[in-house]
Amino acid sequence: MSGDVLLEIEHLSAGYSGVPVVRDLDLTVAAGEIVALLGPNGAGKTTTLLAVSKMIPVLAGDIRVFGRSIRDRRSHQLPREGLAHVLEDRSLFFQLTVAENLRLGSPSGRPDLERTLEYFPQLQALMDRRAGLLSGGEQQMLAIARALIAEPQLLMIDEMSLGLAPLIVERMLPIVRRIADETDAGVLIVEQHVHLALEIADRGYVLSHGEVVHQGSAAEITSDSAMLESDYLGNLGETS
Ligand code: ATP
Repeated sequence: MSGDVLLEIEHLSAGYSGVPVVRDLDLTVAAGEIVALLGPNGAGKTTTLLAVSKMIPVLAGDIRVFGRSIRDRRSHQLPREGLAHVLEDRSLFFQLTVAENLRLGSPSGRPDLERTLEYFPQLQALMDRRAGLLSGGEQQMLAIARALIAEPQLLMIDEMSLGLAPLIVERMLPIVRRIADETDAGVLIVEQHVHLALEIADRGYVLSHGEVVHQGSAAEITSDSAMLESDYLGNLGETS
């Protein structure tokens, strides 16, 4: 892990129709580290990721990706510069095959499948299957694999576990750890399985009502039983 700071969010306000739902948020992600963004429904986690991708405007504060403010950049430029964002809905093309979906993730149209399939070997046998026919877990693997094809330096994954059986989530989160370790990408994950997320994360931020109410190393948050059982995380920590 080189430790270069890849994402710096400073005093961010972001929201919808000019109304902030995230306020005064500070957050960083360095190369090779996994940062978990935690908190109850509606806390502003997805909104934060959307602001980093410039899919919604920054109302106040600043976001720097790879050392440069995103103020003068457009959302379609950021993926080419090394930012990948796996959206909550996974955004797959259901009518297209796995291979075609992967090709669409490649800037050159010629994806380096070998490297990506090292992380998700299960996709190899599914190359000709339509994405819409995959199981939820396979679709999530495909969504992350498609993001990896572009060899991102900064990877954001929103609710990877949404709709997945806990067993599948338990298998997939360590793969995210491997990706961070082996590619030195910085990873920002929004995850409802708090305990599992903290097992693979280096640091975490807890959001509530659009504000950071707690932050620290994953070990600190894990050992803070009052925090884990609080209203912020208490109903989110179930792993089964
Ligand atoms: P969840 O697990 O529910 O997705 P979250 O922490 O990701 O939680 P956000 O999706 O960021 O929460 O939502 C934060 C707030 O912004 C919520 O009150 C939500 O209703 C509101 N919100 C989200 N999307 C929109 C939108 N497109 N227009 C207006 N308000 C929105």
